[in-house]
Amino acid sequence: MKTKPTRPLVAIALIATLLNNAQAEENVLNLYSARHYQTDEALYANFTKQTGIRINRIEGKEDELLERIKNEGANSPADILLTVDAARLAVAHEMGLFAPLKSAWLESRIPAHLRTDDWFSYSTRARVIVYAKGAVKPADVQSYQDLAKPELKGKVCSRSGSHPYNLSLMASIIAHQGEARAEEWAKNVVANFSRAPKGGDTDQIKAVAAGECAVALSNTYYVARLMRSDKAEDKKTMEKVGVIWPDQQGSGTHINISGGGMLKTSQHKAAAIKFLEYLASDDAQRYFADGNNEWPVVASVKVVNPALDALGKFKADVLPVGSLAMYRSKAQMIFDRAGYR
Ligand code: FE
Repeated sequence: MKTKPTRPLVAIALIATLLNNAQAEENVLNLYSARHYQTDEALYANFTKQTGIRINRIEGKEDELLERIKNEGANSPADILLTVDAARLAVAHEMGLFAPLKSAWLESRIPAHLRTDDWFSYSTRARVIVYAKGAVKPADVQSYQDLAKPELKGKVCSRSGSHPYNLSLMASIIAHQGEARAEEWAKNVVANFSRAPKGGDTDQIKAVAAGECAVALSNTYYVARLMRSDKAEDKKTMEKVGVIWPDQQGSGTHINISGGGMLKTSQHKAAAIKFLEYLASDDAQRYFADGNNEWPVVASVKVVNPALDALGKFKADVLPVGSLAMYRSKAQMIFDRAGYR
């Protein structure tokens, strides 16, 4: 049997499909994330429960995600980029990837020095000095500046100067002391190296414990991770090392952040803003910070974390994260000149 073409029905079906698509489009958020922690499932599920917005997650390494968004260009499906380190977020900003966002909620929740016009910090980590008990007196290594003292010749381990964590620290030193003193510092630290820079922060802690060097720098969450580890070798490592909060008498310990922003090319801007605002809520702050043994940026939010509690309270440097960004490329040039590779 031959069916007559039913144009109105086709049209209605077409409209229905379009409407469905439009609805589906509004209720989804494409998240590019360099986070991959246990608490993330709860963090995202909670958002979907509150808003009905489904999250598609693309996980990758920090620099790969940036590269991917750049390559996707105007067609990138990404709505949000979450990553770690102010220097990396600065790169995304300089590439023009983020859309400016003014949000009264975010302004009321996140301290001014931890946000910019287009990206926001959601958790903080501090860059501390780890020392070998017995090998140095903690009183002699109370600041980043102290790592450059001639007394520490052959006693300093470090990860690469090109790594964002060290670039951000260097950026803060430039901001506080100027380029000339920052370069002097870098040269003197290099002169104190016990070996050429290699490995990550955890490797530096282990090298200190193994007696390969007496002092090194590490982010607090690596320290906390080892403190909370059940492995016998990690326990042994932590028995041998102590932790110092640098610059407590000066500008405070350098802190770095993890954070994110909405992409300029986002097709779901309303959902993206909801998500960025959600991340500053009490619940989300707890999940976000605790997933990686970090501190929430919202001061009133308390996390229960035995390792962070054991590390204690400290005075943090309140240099705006935007300044870290500003001095990032200068920091790299200074490290290069100083041979801090
Ligand atoms: Fe890390």
